[in-house]
Amino acid sequence: MLRVVIILFTGFAIQTLVGQSRQRTADVAALGVATRALGVESDPRPALCAAARLVTGAAFAILFEPHPDGTLVATAGTDGLNLASMQINPATEASATAEAWRTGERIYIADTITSPRASTRLATATGAVGVLFQPITRDGRRMAVLVVGFPDARRRGPESALHVVELLAAEIGAALDRADLVARLAVQARTDPLTGASNRRSWDEQLDRELARAQRTADPLTVAMLDLDHFKVFNDAFGHSSGDALLRDFVVAIRAELRTGDVVARWGGEEFVLALPSCDLERARTVATRLLSVVPSGQTVSIGLTQAREHDTPRTLISRADLALYAAKDGGRNQVRSLDALVSLDDLSAAGPAV
Ligand code: GH3
Ligand code: MG
Ligand code: MG
Repeated sequence: MLRVVIILFTGFAIQTLVGQSRQRTADVAALGVATRALGVESDPRPALCAAARLVTGAAFAILFEPHPDGTLVATAGTDGLNLASMQINPATEASATAEAWRTGERIYIADTITSPRASTRLATATGAVGVLFQPITRDGRRMAVLVVGFPDARRRGPESALHVVELLAAEIGAALDRADLVARLAVQARTDPLTGASNRRSWDEQLDRELARAQRTADPLTVAMLDLDHFKVFNDAFGHSSGDALLRDFVVAIRAELRTGDVVARWGGEEFVLALPSCDLERARTVATRLLSVVPSGQTVSIGLTQAREHDTPRTLISRADLALYAAKDGGRNQVRSLDALVSLDDLSAAGPAV
């Protein structure tokens, strides 16, 4: 009898161990898949959520990150979720996501429908009952909260899920850091460090795109070339760093006058180029005339304009804008000149029929 009990007991124990070991193998395999996905995506967030769902066998996973306005925003989630509806304002509603963010402690709520700690919106939006709220930290910095939901109430919490989510959390922290760094480097690679305007490389890409779009759609595109007047004199009088500050302030002032889709780039030195999509020459003249009056420190600028035409290339477009700028300088500076889009480059002398 005792032998039977021992055999039965041993059998049960072995089965449990085998089960656990299988589970662990599955966890490790799933983590492997997950972490490989994290390395290759430019925005790893959707892959992070898919991975979290995969390793836990959950119904969904959502990543919440802080917004400067104090709310927590769902920046990614597994398919089929309406993320826009999930912004959490910790000041106005009970939210376990916000609590996990604030305390840095993992929370598991077995029944979000009845728990006063959980947001009723989350339960309603997802239908989840058991939900795990895992803070993501890295080097002591709070970065995000991963929310993983199960459709059934699990009284004690999904033990293996808790374990693998903890492992995954470290990977997520590293992946978010990498993604931030890559995004920062990408912005730096496209930006003039002094003024924050687009640099030449970025300008070339954007002009190519805007010109192709204008030619495809027959939507107007106007390009402006700007050159600060007597900037050398300003530098000599007030010093190079005042000159730098003027360049920075000038870009801020230009931006304030332009639309969101307009491109502001530093051509070099004290010269800037603008691409104004959906803007014809006449409208651009009004905009450019406004720019004459926003140059900081009482300085002035000369502006050349030209509108893109059917057979333009970026080179011919820039050449015409440059000729128009020369005409503005020749005309006495502090003014806008434009070249009619219908005038052929071949017809132009250096001073050209700019108007
Ligand atoms: P014009 O009215 O004919 O355009 O005269 P200008 O003095 O503006 O033109 P010029 O080409 O003679 O001089 C441009 C000056 O811009 C000279 C150069 O030192 C200065 N400059 C170029 N890049 C920078 C910069 O990044 N910072 C500062 N402070 N000055 C710069
Ligand atoms: Mg110049
Ligand atoms: Mg100049």
